[in-house]
Amino acid sequence: MDHFLYRDGVLHAEDVAVPEIAAAVGTPFYLYSAATLTRHYRLFDEGLDGLPHLVCFAMKSNSNQAVIKLLADLGAGMDVVSGGEYSRARAAGVPGERIVFSGVGKTRDEMRMALEGGVRQVNLESEPEMAALSEVAVSMGVTVPVTVRVNPDVDAKTHEKISTGKSENKFGIPISRARDVYAQAAALPGLTVIGVDVHIGSQLTDLAPFEEAYRLVASLTEQLRADGHDIRRIDLGGGLGIPYARSNEAPPLPTEYCDLIRRTVGHLNAEIEIEPGRLISGNAGIMVSKVIYVKSGEGRNFLILDSAMNDLIRPSMYSSYHEIVAVREPAPGVEMAPYDIVGPVCESGDTFARERAMPPAAAGDLVAFRSAGAYGAVMSSEYNTRPLIPEVLVQGDQFAVIRPRPTFDEIINRDIIPEWL
Ligand SMILES: *Cc1c(COP(=O)(O)O)cnc(C)c1O
Repeated sequence: MDHFLYRDGVLHAEDVAVPEIAAAVGTPFYLYSAATLTRHYRLFDEGLDGLPHLVCFAMKSNSNQAVIKLLADLGAGMDVVSGGEYSRARAAGVPGERIVFSGVGKTRDEMRMALEGGVRQVNLESEPEMAALSEVAVSMGVTVPVTVRVNPDVDAKTHEKISTGKSENKFGIPISRARDVYAQAAALPGLTVIGVDVHIGSQLTDLAPFEEAYRLVASLTEQLRADGHDIRRIDLGGGLGIPYARSNEAPPLPTEYCDLIRRTVGHLNAEIEIEPGRLISGNAGIMVSKVIYVKSGEGRNFLILDSAMNDLIRPSMYSSYHEIVAVREPAPGVEMAPYDIVGPVCESGDTFARERAMPPAAAGDLVAFRSAGAYGAVMSSEYNTRPLIPEVLVQGDQFAVIRPRPTFDEIINRDIIPEWL
């Protein structure tokens, strides 16, 4: 459930009418609901009630400072995958002991930054990375808590670009080699082995791959403990999928996922970490856009919007489906018509949907892309010198711009023409 609902025939975000925000900030823009973010975080936090745990929000899904602060104030930790995300977490006031550093290619500079600012743990993904972190820690005279991310060779049955738990993927070390690699980690100075880590992919709509992976991690935990490692934490990653098309998808609920965690690793007396991103932020955000033109083509009608693939790249990158709704609720019984919904960017990949049934549309109408709070703003670019679109946060009856639209001058002034030119 989210907080984007029609009221008196107009789409609202919590208690604010979407056209009111559009009039204030201009289109297109991202719009997030604080109540929805809060609700989703709590589903996990309460779902793991009774087990020692920390819900670490995967910041790569949505890294706006206001979103991070809101979740951190509720008690969330953060999962970061770059020095930039680490800096964002610290800037939003997240203490180092609640930041988990993940990612397949951390540089020494990023490691140093995390060790200086404080970090809960570093999730290591390879032997060379392990050696590098050891060197950095020793050079700084500190010891850093680490886990090793294992690759369980489980098919997450999700889109190939976001599947990470098969042996052919670049992530983690094969679970078959885990005991060797843990022995090596334990022998390295500057590292303290404190746990195990796994993350098998994103947008999983079935619990079976999680179950398979978590059972493997449970038995690995027992083996590693028998080998003498102090496995105190089990980081189970993120990846729980959300319903993008409300009508025909019913991914498992967070409560079911949390029950699965209890069943598979609950007996191990370890602190559980999870790293949900999409499930917390995805349905907590929409992208609001305006119809610029309705264009009749040969056998097709196009809705040309003022947002484009640079603003929301998921449809062109992953062929993802986003529900697109009219901000003015269609009258009951109104006849729907098929439209190709596209942006103004100069390539055919700039298509959000083909032959999508929509109420009859006119230039100036507002539409909203649902489920746009995750992997939306964070993946946007300024292709075609289209300014990054603003982000707005609603809480109850108030709203605030949490990232403004840059001006053309701000964009242009980032470039430098060398003196010799
Ligand atoms: C992407 C990622 C996540 C979050 O995935 P979601 O599908 O957004 O929940 C968590 N952990 C790691 C290591 C990731 O790379």
